[in-house]
Amino acid sequence: MPDLSTIVSDIAAEMAAAPDRGIPADYIPPLAAVDPGRFGIAVIERDGTCHLAGDADESFSIQSVSKVFALTLALGAVGDQLWRRVGREPSGSAFNSIVQLETEHGVPRNPFINAGAIVVADVLLGRNQPREVLGELLRFVRAAAGEDGIFIDEAVARAEQDTGHRNMALANYMRAFGNLHHPPEATLGVYFHQCALAMSCRQLALTGRYLMAGGINPTTGHSIVSAQRARRINALMLTCGHYDGSGEFAYRVGLPGKSGVGGGILAIAPGIASIAVWSPGLNERGNSQLGTLALERLVQRTGWSIFEPRG
Ligand code: GLN
Repeated sequence: MPDLSTIVSDIAAEMAAAPDRGIPADYIPPLAAVDPGRFGIAVIERDGTCHLAGDADESFSIQSVSKVFALTLALGAVGDQLWRRVGREPSGSAFNSIVQLETEHGVPRNPFINAGAIVVADVLLGRNQPREVLGELLRFVRAAAGEDGIFIDEAVARAEQDTGHRNMALANYMRAFGNLHHPPEATLGVYFHQCALAMSCRQLALTGRYLMAGGINPTTGHSIVSAQRARRINALMLTCGHYDGSGEFAYRVGLPGKSGVGGGILAIAPGIASIAVWSPGLNERGNSQLGTLALERLVQRTGWSIFEPRG
């Protein structure tokens, strides 16, 4: 295999020239304004070696990638009791779909579709104020990344608040089933701000290291979650992290991954690397078009698919 830095820079050069870049999300106005020509990639190996290319240091709206970190915190707060209020099965439906909630009594299929992530935000609220939950989330990602320069983009949060009618419908619907314990406005306040976290590919890959290394930050040696919990979060990312495109992502890439409508994807090669890619143009399922292609090429050239025979 050629050296990893060469693979990463080759992929960035190929993506810069790619003709079909997908279309940036248009339902959240600040996301529609992002230049679809951007592409960034960060690959951090277990020993801390970091390979960056393209716009790897440019911050973008991580959107639903944040659901991985919110889930990690909610499991820390209430453990397996979380699964009384949200399932662990792929939905096969769009990320913002309401259709299954009626027949499934307000219990979302998984924590990564919007309905599930809204329940997770409600769990995080517990007895706290929205401001405290967001403070805890920021402390978590900053500590996991080992960087203080990670912020919430207030303009994006506000735009989501102004345009998030579907999310309001989901929250109100689940509240009617008793699966939301706080006023929908409070829970959605947490959810919208969590989605508005702004990070670069480098910061996102740094944050994801605990999922690559059995729950431990491999640089500091600090345990963030148990090895079992890291394994299980990875399993959910593989099966549900790309919504109704999760099967396709597993087929093409073969890594646990979580996408966001800002065009970011966090992908984990367990024991090997934490990877973040960003390109704002989305495919028809709302997942980054070139981000997926870049990961597909990375895995083809490194043999990092979890389905690759080992040893
Ligand atoms: N904030 C976005 C929404 O609620 C997140 C969706 C996503 O990234 N898939 O619609």
